[in-house]
Amino acid sequence: MMLPHLNTLTAGQLRSPIWVYDVVGQKMVWANHAALSLWEADSLEELCQRDFSQDQSEAVQQTLHGYLERFTQHEQVDVWWEITPKGIKKRVFIRLSGVWITADDGNQCLAMLSEGQYSPELLNAGDIPSAAMAVLFDRYGTLISSNPPFQEQFGADVIELQSILPQETGLSYIQSMGSLGHDIELNTQLGMRWHHAEVSIQHSAGQHNSERAPYYVLTLIDIQERKLREIETANEARSDLLTGLLNRRGLLQYMSSHKGDDYTLLYIDLDGFKPINDSYGHNAGDELLRHLANVLMHQEGKKICARLGGDEFVVVFLEALKEAEIQLRADNLLHDLSRKVTVANDCLVRVSGSVGVASAPQDSTDIYELIVQADAAMYEAKKQGRNRAVLYQSGMESNMLRRTQILQFMDGAIANHQFELHYQPIINGHNGQTVLMEALIRWHHPTMGPLSPLEFIAVAEDSGKIANLESWVIRRVCQDLPVIRQNFSDDVRITINISGAHLIQPDFVSKLMSLLAEYQCTPQDFVLELTESVLVPVIEDNNSCLDELVEQGFQLAIDDFGTGYSSLAYISQLPAQFVKIDKAFIDRLHQDQNTLLFIRDLCHKFNMQCIAEGVEQLDQTTILNGADILLQQGYYYARPQPLGSFEKDGACGTSADGFTTQSRLVP
Ligand code: C2E
Ligand code: CA
Ligand code: CA
Repeated sequence: MMLPHLNTLTAGQLRSPIWVYDVVGQKMVWANHAALSLWEADSLEELCQRDFSQDQSEAVQQTLHGYLERFTQHEQVDVWWEITPKGIKKRVFIRLSGVWITADDGNQCLAMLSEGQYSPELLNAGDIPSAAMAVLFDRYGTLISSNPPFQEQFGADVIELQSILPQETGLSYIQSMGSLGHDIELNTQLGMRWHHAEVSIQHSAGQHNSERAPYYVLTLIDIQERKLREIETANEARSDLLTGLLNRRGLLQYMSSHKGDDYTLLYIDLDGFKPINDSYGHNAGDELLRHLANVLMHQEGKKICARLGGDEFVVVFLEALKEAEIQLRADNLLHDLSRKVTVANDCLVRVSGSVGVASAPQDSTDIYELIVQADAAMYEAKKQGRNRAVLYQSGMESNMLRRTQILQFMDGAIANHQFELHYQPIINGHNGQTVLMEALIRWHHPTMGPLSPLEFIAVAEDSGKIANLESWVIRRVCQDLPVIRQNFSDDVRITINISGAHLIQPDFVSKLMSLLAEYQCTPQDFVLELTESVLVPVIEDNNSCLDELVEQGFQLAIDDFGTGYSSLAYISQLPAQFVKIDKAFIDRLHQDQNTLLFIRDLCHKFNMQCIAEGVEQLDQTTILNGADILLQQGYYYARPQPLGSFEKDGACGTSADGFTTQSRLVP
């Protein structure tokens, strides 16, 4: 017998066991030194004379014949095999391939080249796959033969293949499985376990194809551990690890089976989550997210919940809902979300939500599109003042694209000096003196053009960039203050708008103080403007930061008074010195002066001074002066403008009528 192909392999020197087995003749043809010891052979002669037909089950023989067929297609087979040379049980991982040998009669025949792998990594992996199990059965599923590993796994008394199959799996499934293989759970002596199964069909020799009853060789590898890990990973891939809700992928996958159904998708973005996460730490943030996920899960109705990442959630109500019902559910959800929660042991926090709603099939039947639409509607909810739900309307997507762009550009804007600070004087209508100056931020982006602070401040608040932005404003004000004092008067105070998202950060006051110290400014130089929507929750939460600010010497102003909560009950509790009456009331002065007078009296009662905002006309100033509301701000006097464009020496320059010239210059 010759081994023509092996000459090129200096196989004899290789450390891994290599041998050639003649499947048809059932005998060993050649083995290297390592293979001799694996097979417990004293010499090659002894090994080649061994009778392998003795302890080889027919199942194994048929399996090997199946392999031969695959070798003719140049395939390789990797398998854990159990061998028992001289009664010693061994498991070896072998790579099998075909090799042509010259038989004793001089004919070429295909044999099996086996390369044992003794890679230490493989052996130490602690996860060695089971030895290959082989079973031969007929077309009725009756077992003809099986190898010892199979018997160990399933018991020696298995007669019908059906008895190891899961209930719902028929024999025909196995018979038609083919050599590509399937993963299947089988009923072992240890319970159900996952196996990788491959099937090949054999025909008994010597018969004509048409009359041959087929036999089936089923080879099995126990893959239980690997499969469980795979299943777990697949579940993880579909669910959010922190909250246990579905993640985006899980949501999409779930909804793919609801195509064509009626459902309503709520896209929820938390308001005020970022500052909590930043200041109380990520553990507190995680705790809060888990709590809120729970709140969503407990909403009434047939639904699924998902967390898309960060502080964004989706709730899908899997039913057809009328608009009123949608609104009711959204309101309930918002109400439950905004309850106070204790996190990190004793920190009482509160967030709210902005919700966008899109419905199938009205808005779209495509889940991807619905998510974009609901997200766009959510952005509208933010813009309208948060803590509310907005139903999607077409065209909302373009606004969202803009928000994304704004966010993208914001980081570079400070570095590239794109922000500017404008000032607008607040004037004593009686004598034209500038009493206060409001600092208003401006952003002119090179490609997007001038952006409204209302728009980009909302984006900065959402994305946690507001503290940075407002610190820039405060710095700039500190730098400008000496110039302002020089041009106006020594006791002009600057009013600075402070966002709620910034104010509630626990280190807000201390950071503010150290910023002022850096520029030798004092709290007495400033008035902080806070809107009602910021102040009310701060009061409700007994947050002491307002008292702290007042103690430090800051004055506070309630901005946009009358537009937000307008809860008069709160005003008495606020340690504010000023109330800025919103422009809306000034615009209506010709129709209604009573409201104005009422607000004025109320303010006086609580020792607060009124400031009228948005004064644009001379007759408005006349009414305001007559009502003794002397502090006035608006285009009538001056538009907000850069410091450099104010005239030197006194406000906006005093004109003959005793008022600022700026109102005439910049109407
Ligand atoms: P706000 O605090 O109520 O500021 C007054 C707004 O009314 C300013 O708009 C101002 O330009 C405008 N205004 C003043 N007088 C008149 C008038 O006679 N007629 C009319 N039609 N409008 C007048 P602006 O500068 O666009 O600011 C809008 C809002 O952006 C501000 O409202 C404020 O809430 C916010 N904002 C501006 N700068 C900052 C800032 O540095 N931080 C924070 N948090 N918010 C800021
Ligand atoms: Ca303001
Ligand atoms: Ca205002």
